[in-house]
Amino acid sequence: MAKPKILVVEDEPDILEVITYNLEREGNKVIACRNGEQGLSRIRTDNPDLVILDLMLPGMDGVEVCRQVKSDPVTRAIPIIMVTAKGEESDIVLGLGIGADDYIAKPFSPRELVARVKVVLRRGPLKDQSGGGERVVRGQLAIDLGRHEAKIAELPVTLTPTEMRLLHFLASHPGRVFPRAHLLSRVIGEDAIVTDRNIDVHVRALRQKLGDHGACIETVRGVGYRFADAAAK
Ligand code: CA
Repeated sequence: MAKPKILVVEDEPDILEVITYNLEREGNKVIACRNGEQGLSRIRTDNPDLVILDLMLPGMDGVEVCRQVKSDPVTRAIPIIMVTAKGEESDIVLGLGIGADDYIAKPFSPRELVARVKVVLRRGPLKDQSGGGERVVRGQLAIDLGRHEAKIAELPVTLTPTEMRLLHFLASHPGRVFPRAHLLSRVIGEDAIVTDRNIDVHVRALRQKLGDHGACIETVRGVGYRFADAAAK
C-alpha cells in the first residue's frame, strides 16, 4: 500500500522538524513547506492525502491557504488539520467555518498529533461533488469508471485502466488546465517511477483511440492538458 502523503505548512523550523519526524516515524511521507505560498503551490501539484496547516504564517496565512484549497474543486476534497495558537477560539471557529476538517492547538504532543492524523486519514477524502460521480457524459462521449467502460456515440472504446482514469478525470473538469505532475499523481499514482513526460505517452495513446474525438483533450503549452470546454456541450 502507498504511504500516506502528508503536506505540512509551518514556518517555525523546530516545530516543523518535530512534526516531520513523528509523522515519518509512523510511516507517512512528509512534504515540508515553510510558508503559505509554497504550501498552496505544492498542494496543487502534489495532491497530498492530508494537509497540516499552521494558521499564523508570514505572507499568506493559514486561513487564506485553507480558503483557496477549499474553494477549488480540484483540491477541495483534501482534508486539512489547522494548527492554532492555544486558546484562540475565534481562529478555530474561523478555520472550521472555511472548511478545515479538524484543528489542533499549540502546544500539542506528537502523540496527539499522530492520533488526529490517523483519524482524519481513516475518514478519507470528501466526496468530490463537482465530478458527477463515476459516470461522466460529455457530448457523444460517455465514461463509466465503475464499469470500466468508455463509449463514443454508444460504440465501446477499449482503453487501459490508466487511460480510463485520465479521460474520466479530465472530462470531469471540462475547461480546467491540469499540470502534468498533477495528472501523474491523480491518475498514475506516486509509486510509479515516471517522469512528467510519461503522461504525454498516455495522452497520445488516448487521443489515438478516441479518433475524431481525440481533439477533446487539448495541450496547454508549457503547462499540461485540459478537456475542451466545447466538447463538453
Ligand atoms: Ca506560525
